[in-house]
Amino acid sequence: MKVTVFGIGYVGLVQAAVMAEVGHDVVCIDVDQNKVDKLKQGHIPIFEPGLTPLVKSNYEAGRVDFTTDAARGVEHGEVIFIAVGTPPDEDGSADLKYVLAVAKTIATHMTKHKIVINKSTVPVGTADRVKAKIDETLTQLGKTATFDVVSNPEFLKEGAAVNDCMRPDRIILGTDSAKAEKKLRELYSPFNRNHDKIIVMDIRSAELTKYAANCMLATKISFMNEMANLAELLGADIENVRKGIGSDPRIGYQFIYPGCGYGGSCFPKDVQALARSAQSVGYTAKVLEAVEAVNYAQKEKLFEYILRHFNGDVAGKTVALWGLSFKPNTDDMREASSRVLMEKLWAAGAKVKAFDPEAMEETQRIYGSRPELSLMGTKEAALEGADFLVICTEWQAFRAPDFDLIKSKLSLPLIFDGRNLFEPKLMLEYGLHYYAIGRGLSV
Ligand code: NAD
Repeated sequence: MKVTVFGIGYVGLVQAAVMAEVGHDVVCIDVDQNKVDKLKQGHIPIFEPGLTPLVKSNYEAGRVDFTTDAARGVEHGEVIFIAVGTPPDEDGSADLKYVLAVAKTIATHMTKHKIVINKSTVPVGTADRVKAKIDETLTQLGKTATFDVVSNPEFLKEGAAVNDCMRPDRIILGTDSAKAEKKLRELYSPFNRNHDKIIVMDIRSAELTKYAANCMLATKISFMNEMANLAELLGADIENVRKGIGSDPRIGYQFIYPGCGYGGSCFPKDVQALARSAQSVGYTAKVLEAVEAVNYAQKEKLFEYILRHFNGDVAGKTVALWGLSFKPNTDDMREASSRVLMEKLWAAGAKVKAFDPEAMEETQRIYGSRPELSLMGTKEAALEGADFLVICTEWQAFRAPDFDLIKSKLSLPLIFDGRNLFEPKLMLEYGLHYYAIGRGLSV
């Protein structure tokens, strides 16, 4: 099937690559010429396990192409995905300017029937706005053309995006058109062979399903972080509590890890956007507002521990920081907890020597060359000349470090762990002073 994807980001690129892999003929459009040029030269702009060979092989086989030529893209696709960003507006609601710009572009160039698929995460009612934008543009241009707008939210997880798109656990289709549904069932049939994962519903429910899913996950994290803070104050160990509650199948072990807050391009903005949507219809989403507030505070937790340890003065200290990306297996730094920590440390007069397995380039892009930040080539090099260690991301490579080496390199035997990677008792045996989240103030 001829497929067009607008937006070559984490969602658009992965979706395009897996669609091409199963034999669809895919053209990707982006406004970023640099990104398009690099992709054509085989340079994949993001880190996502398994993505580079998938994109390269499908590009070489001619099943996927990259261009800024929107007219060509619109002409090409029977189905056209909108997978552009929906960043938060000033008040936290989703900014639809990129989505509506693509709708206008589609209307400008379409000459025959198109199925327009909203893949971006968008508030309830956006499909109506996309429809209206296409109608308005067609009228302005004096054109007539038929089209369907479908909501097909994306549930991939960064760090596992290729696998999630190849083996989705659900494919949500929000549509009121039997013809569009039939076409999309055909489009997705290669991903729907084991059992039927397609759930068809009305458009508004599909749009809300995506937000409800992300908000539920964010709620689990903030709830656990609240329990961790309570555990700390009440003298309990949140890791025991986690195991204790996870054993209840109604709760389950997944996604109940306490830590230094969630980040990324989705949870923070989607929780905010749904809370603002609620406000717009006169409803106060108290749970969502609390989820957001708890997370905001949790991202400052490590800095609080550090300040408390040093009696409020970290000026002149050098901090070794392991983990910059918002979670492992990605180079995405959007809303990462590490950024809150680094910026607070710098404001307090400390320096940071940081290492991340994949996010170094992105960190450099965001912060440039500033004297308070040194990006080091290995996790061991980050320890060199540092006073203490902080861990912000639970990369596998940080889970079993050489503790004797850590102790010998740091000027103080001190670790602040935002992801609870180590056992406090073991740290004691190594003579390391260890702070974790919700496990007692320190050992
Ligand atoms: P991204 O920022 O990585 O990529 C968006 C791309 O769209 C950029 O390359 C940008 O240049 C391009 N773009 C902007 N305007 C354009 C236009 N008019 N025409 C063509 N291209 C244009 O974004 P992302 O992380 O892929 O997210 C895209 C959407 O998917 C968002 O709504 C997001 O909430 C949602 N989503 C993201 C994830 C995730 O894990 N990243 C998961 C599920 C859903």
